[in-house]
Amino acid sequence: MGYSRLDGPVQFLKGVGPKRADLLKKLSIGTARDLLYHIPRRYDNISTITPISSLEVGMEASVRGEVVSKGVLPTRKGLKIFQAVLRDDSGMITVSWPGRPWLDRKIREGDRILAQGSVKFYHGRQFHPREFTIVSRASHDAEADDPNTVFVSYPSTDAIPQWVLRGMFEKNLDFLLEQIDDDEYLPEGIRKALGLPTLSEAFRTLHRPTHPEEAEEGRRRLAFDEFFYLQLVQALARHRDQEAEPGIEFLRTNEHIRPLHESLPFELTGAQARVLREIFADMASPRRMNRFLQGDVGAGKTLVALFAILLAVESDRQAALMAPTELLAEQHALKLRAMLEPLELPVALLTGSVPTRARSEILESLREGRLPIVVGTHALIQDDVRFARLGLVVVDEQHRFGVRQRMALGEGEDDAPGAGGSPTSESRERPDVLVMSATPIPRSLALTLYGELDLSILDELPPGRTPVRTLLRRPSARDEVYSGIERAIEEGGQAYIVYPLVEESEELDLPAATAEYERLSGEVFPGRTVGLLHGRLPADEKERIMAAFRDGEIDILVSTTVIEVGIDVPNASIMVIEHAERFGLSQLHQLRGRVGRGSRESYCVLISPSGKESWERLEIFASTTDGFEIARADLRLRGQGDLFGAQQHGRDPLLRFADLTRDEALLLRARELARRIIDADPELADPEHAAVKARLEGEHAERLRMWKVG
Ligand code: ADP
Ligand code: MG
Repeated sequence: MGYSRLDGPVQFLKGVGPKRADLLKKLSIGTARDLLYHIPRRYDNISTITPISSLEVGMEASVRGEVVSKGVLPTRKGLKIFQAVLRDDSGMITVSWPGRPWLDRKIREGDRILAQGSVKFYHGRQFHPREFTIVSRASHDAEADDPNTVFVSYPSTDAIPQWVLRGMFEKNLDFLLEQIDDDEYLPEGIRKALGLPTLSEAFRTLHRPTHPEEAEEGRRRLAFDEFFYLQLVQALARHRDQEAEPGIEFLRTNEHIRPLHESLPFELTGAQARVLREIFADMASPRRMNRFLQGDVGAGKTLVALFAILLAVESDRQAALMAPTELLAEQHALKLRAMLEPLELPVALLTGSVPTRARSEILESLREGRLPIVVGTHALIQDDVRFARLGLVVVDEQHRFGVRQRMALGEGEDDAPGAGGSPTSESRERPDVLVMSATPIPRSLALTLYGELDLSILDELPPGRTPVRTLLRRPSARDEVYSGIERAIEEGGQAYIVYPLVEESEELDLPAATAEYERLSGEVFPGRTVGLLHGRLPADEKERIMAAFRDGEIDILVSTTVIEVGIDVPNASIMVIEHAERFGLSQLHQLRGRVGRGSRESYCVLISPSGKESWERLEIFASTTDGFEIARADLRLRGQGDLFGAQQHGRDPLLRFADLTRDEALLLRARELARRIIDADPELADPEHAAVKARLEGEHAERLRMWKVG
């Protein structure tokens, strides 16, 4: 790998030196390249800045001007206010920072300041900044304040303020831009076809745009690069996975598939048929299947998975279905057993709470190949679990597993000696893998997190479903909600009442749910049977309660989010969710999917105290039942950083420049290019790919390791 001067310490750049280099660490800047990648967080010029004379009370605005006087004002209530008078060509305004007297030491007369905030009225117009930066010191670069140049605001610290960063870029940017040319990996033709600038142009527009909009072109280029290298690693993982050992060529005999198909009281949806074709084609091919199945709640994923399982069984292989919780595994087992009853195919259940004796019996039958289908939890990936001929692994509820576990899944012994964590087949074959998501996630997020997988989307619900009506209520309306429940039960229905649960701390929240349960069963619904379900109950107890609810022996099931997935009780027509604001939208969608599964008109009632933001969020949720739309809203509201979890590594966010809500088209093209390159030149041996290879093995080494392709 060629040495780039960009990899050298930032200290040796002009105007930096050891002392500032040390201070730059706080901004995660260690090398010259880090400095180049230190991108402004906003851009202002004459088009974004309001002349002081035009500021009106109530406006949100950016202002820029020179400090002509300043001081700290005490108020009667003891609050100290720092005030500065700011002047531009058009006029003057008082800028107030209540409670921040220390700014008096930071801001000097003659400093030029850029501030964003609102105009208020206190003895006249006043500007109250939310944010501000010192554009230039009285004695420094006066021409930087030319209103026609774009002023860039960098993330800064007290020790390395704006004007210092600006100075560093003024002295070094040209040199850095020259150096970054060596990183260019996109051939001109491809780059132009993508409508992207060169790397060097991109960084120029980001640090020294002639217009704020120009910086967006640079951002798109860096976003493309992020997607590209991520997809490249994933394409490598995919390639190695498929080439390392050939997959199984499953052979369809229809021995089981046809009878199941014929036993269904309905037709497959168009989406199910399409996705099944994709899966069957993958399974029949000698390539190993690694597919991600996405679909809304109730879209019929389980049935699709079952057909895949039957194809494996027809080909004389075993199939495993893995779920993230015992409850869900139990539900799956029940469902599969019911559907497979006419076919006389046994389904075993392997979870942590299966007694030792039964467990060893199951293990033995799996090892000897007598058991074709097993459903389970993590218990399936214990060291001592061996299959005679494991052909297919279906993983449900992907997002709960995290990458590491999924990577462990389906790996042969040779890959991870003694590491355990793989349902291992005695034969050399490696199973096909089908991953199912519980909740739809936006396509861009799916492609980013699981780029090495192929994606199948079930985007059609079976016909004849009455959409669940979602109502939003304040806690004060609880009694009415209870009357609604009472009426529904009178009509023969059942209800869920769900309480939130902070993950990992179930113990803390349990008293709340328990107390509510007592209140509900004793005072609110004395004539009804109320059940309590939570994660700390023993598995058999959970199963007993669920069975009782399913059989109509329980009218109202009070529950923590353990019912989030899997429970299928068509007679339940009302779900009340307490503290709805504490749930993510996708989680709410998942919960809501538990009702409306039968013919009854169904309701989901969200109870939440008012609070503008959370109420708005819940209103979005109430307005649609389309899971993909909800997922996109969730992504937009929560931000992508929140969603990456296990994929984050070190201090770097997975994506700094790319925005999954806006850049899907870019992502698709990056993915296409990455896969094309890896398919043609998996070793990146072609000199044309030297720059790609260098970056991949340098900056992305950690990621290569994470995806096990290093
Ligand atoms: P998911 O796992 O995607 O949430 P399921 O596979 O549990 O959905 O299916 C939900 C319900 O819809 C089940 O009761 C299932 O039997 C039924 N179902 C599945 N496919 C169809 C279809 N094509 N037409 C009608 N009902 C279907
Ligand atoms: Mg195959």
